[in-house]
Amino acid sequence: MTSQLLRNLPSVERVVSSDALADVVSIYGRDWLVDLTRDALESARRDIRAGGQARCLDDIAEAVKRAVDELVTPSPRPLINATGVVIHTNLGRAPLSKAAIAAADAVARGYSDLEIDLATGRRGSRQAHLQSLLRQITGAEAALVVNNNASALLLGLSALASGREVIVARGEAVEIGGGFRIPDVLRQSGCTLVDVGTTNRTYVRDYADAVTDDTAAFLKAHASNFRVEGFTAAVEERDLVELGERTGVPVLHDVGSGALLPTERYGLAHEPTPQEAIDAGVGLVFFSGDKLLGGPQAGIVVGKRDLVGRLERHPLARAVRIDKMSLASLTATLTHYLSGNAESEIPVWRMISARVEAIKSRAERWREAIGGPSGYETAVVPARSAIGGGSLPGETLDSWALSISSRGSGSRPESLLSALRGRATPVIARIEDDTVRLDPRTVLPEQDDDITMGLAEALAL
Ligand SMILES: *Cc1c(COP(=O)(O)O)cnc(C)c1O
Repeated sequence: MTSQLLRNLPSVERVVSSDALADVVSIYGRDWLVDLTRDALESARRDIRAGGQARCLDDIAEAVKRAVDELVTPSPRPLINATGVVIHTNLGRAPLSKAAIAAADAVARGYSDLEIDLATGRRGSRQAHLQSLLRQITGAEAALVVNNNASALLLGLSALASGREVIVARGEAVEIGGGFRIPDVLRQSGCTLVDVGTTNRTYVRDYADAVTDDTAAFLKAHASNFRVEGFTAAVEERDLVELGERTGVPVLHDVGSGALLPTERYGLAHEPTPQEAIDAGVGLVFFSGDKLLGGPQAGIVVGKRDLVGRLERHPLARAVRIDKMSLASLTATLTHYLSGNAESEIPVWRMISARVEAIKSRAERWREAIGGPSGYETAVVPARSAIGGGSLPGETLDSWALSISSRGSGSRPESLLSALRGRATPVIARIEDDTVRLDPRTVLPEQDDDITMGLAEALAL
């Protein structure tokens, strides 16, 4: 039986020259359709051997078409984030401001003065403009921007401390996520980690006792994705800087999310800012471009001129350099902080500062737009949005959400979640109390129609 089904499968040639694939072949040519057809036939054979059904020519041609579609669909695909998590690493972190998008678009279209000094016509630095902006905003003497914060740290430690010791508080030898661990970065940079203090408490004298002739830096890392509560003590930046001045050891601080606005203004806990670290006299401050800064992926280093200079001259600087589109959109994003319109123009800050009543009325509008879908109960309920992205662990903002319960229809909330993910513009929601929750805080205003259409479709399935 099985061998009969296997023998009945069409040949590669018959599938590729079938009418069903004529259009696809005329667009993409035969060569890679032959490969995809082999794959489709192989998977049909596997399925038949496992007890699956017979496949006719049309089934295989259909599978090949789906494979073609998948290959040519642009990726990553835009989607709607209705999770209420503002900086969602799996969903691409910060959405960009209009000006930041326009800036990336403009340099992508044609040539730019990326590395030419227009006044002299000679070679210029891709960093120059960004450096003056960052100096203005953070008060630092110098700045350097690279591919992301992880590479900024790798560069910083390699340039300043390779072959030497770096002192880190035990409570700060952390894993940031995605396998990124401070001890591993130190090892990769050729440094020896000297950990001091205990998991919950570290004092200045712990650092002082560990200093040797071989000490190259004190490294502080913001424990950005967890909180230690209770009997704790961490060393004030200023005290560490003072010890550093006495012993000739620079302080490096990985503040993580790069909040340039005070988070406490929005009812959140205080997130350390690069400005404060510079003000305290830290040698180098490291942060990401696409977390609370609200820009593109980037790693930003600000600090003392001589230290930044050593990073610039290190061979790794070239290996981790930033590309022109990120550079352009980061510049545009930073300009919002200078013009004082960050809160209204940068999406992550607009989301964080959104008024709860406005969020509630959006949820109510969504609810009205989908009407009363049969088998489902809808309600607008209090919710909590999170900051995410390794910023402000455990901190949430009061919000409202559209809640959809499928109890009446007998289907599981997971099925609705998956139907929402399966749309042309996928919608990502979450489940709480056995109901699907959609938080308007993280949905861009221009996505309102799309989300209600998506909901109506998914609920009708
Ligand atoms: C997120 C984070 C990083 C990694 O930054 P990327 O820009 O993702 O490379 C490093 N350190 C801290 C403290 C972070 O929060």
